[in-house]
Amino acid sequence: MGSAAFEEIKRAGRLPSPRAVALELLRLLDEETTPIGQITATVETDPALSSRLLKLVNSPLVGVSRTIASLAMAVNLLGRPAVRNLVLGMSLIESDKNTQTNVFNYQNYWSKSLARAVSARHLAPSFKACADDEAFTVALLSEIGTLGFAFTFPKEFDAILSNADLCDSARRLELERDAFGIDHNELAAEMMSEWHLADFFGQAVKHQNATDIEALDIDERCKRLITQLQLSDAFASTLVTPKIYQEDLQKVVDVGVSMNLKPETLFDAFDLAKTEWHELGTIYAVQTSKSVPSLRDSHGRASRDQVPILIVDDDPIQLSILEKALIEAGYNVHTAKNGFDAFKAIRAQGFQMVLTDWNMPKMDGLQLCGALRNNEVVGFVYVIVLTTSTDNDVLGKAFDAGADDFLIKPWKKIELLARLKAGLRTLKLESTLAAEQRAAHKTNAELATLNEKLQRMATTDELTGLCNRREAMNRLNEYWELAQRKSVPLSCIAIDIDFFKKCNDTYGHDVGDIVLRDTARVLRNGTRKSECVFRMGGEEFLVLCPESSAEMSQAAAERLRLLVERNEIAHNNLINSITISAGIAEVTPDIKNADELLKVADQALYQAKANGRNRVVNGSSVPASTVKVS
Ligand code: GH3
Ligand code: MG
Ligand code: MG
Repeated sequence: MGSAAFEEIKRAGRLPSPRAVALELLRLLDEETTPIGQITATVETDPALSSRLLKLVNSPLVGVSRTIASLAMAVNLLGRPAVRNLVLGMSLIESDKNTQTNVFNYQNYWSKSLARAVSARHLAPSFKACADDEAFTVALLSEIGTLGFAFTFPKEFDAILSNADLCDSARRLELERDAFGIDHNELAAEMMSEWHLADFFGQAVKHQNATDIEALDIDERCKRLITQLQLSDAFASTLVTPKIYQEDLQKVVDVGVSMNLKPETLFDAFDLAKTEWHELGTIYAVQTSKSVPSLRDSHGRASRDQVPILIVDDDPIQLSILEKALIEAGYNVHTAKNGFDAFKAIRAQGFQMVLTDWNMPKMDGLQLCGALRNNEVVGFVYVIVLTTSTDNDVLGKAFDAGADDFLIKPWKKIELLARLKAGLRTLKLESTLAAEQRAAHKTNAELATLNEKLQRMATTDELTGLCNRREAMNRLNEYWELAQRKSVPLSCIAIDIDFFKKCNDTYGHDVGDIVLRDTARVLRNGTRKSECVFRMGGEEFLVLCPESSAEMSQAAAERLRLLVERNEIAHNNLINSITISAGIAEVTPDIKNADELLKVADQALYQAKANGRNRVVNGSSVPASTVKVS
């Protein structure tokens, strides 16, 4: 059915095809007896091809020390297979760039095809399916069927490319067969046969998306070529995407492992392909990228980033089978012989992903779950229990003990990896949540500190560090309540620095500030613990004396007055003596509230000023006529 559809597509005349000169060259190159002169003469008829050939022979890829200007020399140096690659590749790349598709991207197509080709060339020695140059050609053309569709059925092909199921290659091939009667792999095989490539290559391309290569009814060599094409495609994906995805990387390593290839061999081939892709890109005029990270580094980083997995089983054979499967899948695996050892390892090394057998001596899988769930030091641990039973009661027991998931023995690798992947996703989610929670706690703590700071700023006087008037009023009201409730005395001292204006005027405002600060210090140090000093504004202070009578406050004020008087404030060789005046008030039945108490103290202070300053007047002992409460 493929062939009839192909004939029809061919008749439409839109398939990409090498130009006449290229076709002629391919024919000449295929015949080993063709004299070199005839080949160069044909190359010379195409100036673009001639210049590309010379560019290739003089590129770092060939590594000749002097410049080659002769086409004959170039053909000899490169060898006929390399010239054939160049002729075919170039003439196709340049055949027609004007596709009418929107989704299909011509530049990306050739960029990735070239990446496949160089990858195949460097993988070929490990696979031994064909010569290096043949590997290059077949990989370069392996997806040419898609180009054929893009030219022949631009609209219909766009619709298929836009289909959401595209990741599923079998589904895509099916859609193509429904729409065009042929899929892109079959079309590529037909086109390659038209260009006289060996059938063996077409056969490999036809089956290149097979998931079970072993089951195919083809010879061993062709199977190896298919694997090589798949690996070249995985290499190409990592070359063309700026970021190496874990899935692509895993695909590469998986295929390598299935072919008994050491990761080192793969990494080396990738590095060589990476360099050649870029070099050849400049010769073929195909977009490439220079900054592709090495597979070796990415793989190393990916394994370092991985969550280590602890597997627990008392049966050494079971343990090693499980270990091998997980290592092959690229995981970082640790082992323990029983639940007890596992618990110790989890506590010491903080494993978060545990796969444990159920029946084990010392501590079994369920006991391990229980121990983990009841231990506060151990953080979030995801536990998968391996069991032989599918009985609901048995599984229920596992979940009750705190297992997150289970795996029935004997397990299938695909299920093991799927369950592990699901668990790792949960772990990732959990760690994201935990990180968000930590960030929220941090913000809350910062807010609390900020609030505290704001609170302090709102209640503290900046210059002296004493509490301010607002705080004085709050505190006074509190003490007032207490005094009323407990019927205990409450008194206060209003203090004002004498002739402070003169101090400012004589020494300047800065010295005035120093005096204010130093006087505040003396007052604070001179008061008892139960008494609090506030700066009420300017050079006025207030001392609250809870549970103290006016007499007791008077004694305290007297002490403070003396301390200030004796305090010498040295500035610029001048020693200033500062004095204060103070007024005392005590809560009595006549005084109705806190404001009235302060008024009485202020009036006593006024009296002290009037009486000559540097003195204390007890407002409660002043005759009522001289203390007016208004
Ligand atoms: P009296 O003995 O009657 O209290 O006289 P006085 O000069 O101390 O009182 P007056 O109220 O006339 O002057 C107080 C001065 O305090 C006026 C004002 O400029 C000054 N002052 C108020 N706040 C500050 C301050 O924060 N720093 C400085 N350096 N001076 C201040
Ligand atoms: Mg004053
Ligand atoms: Mg004053």
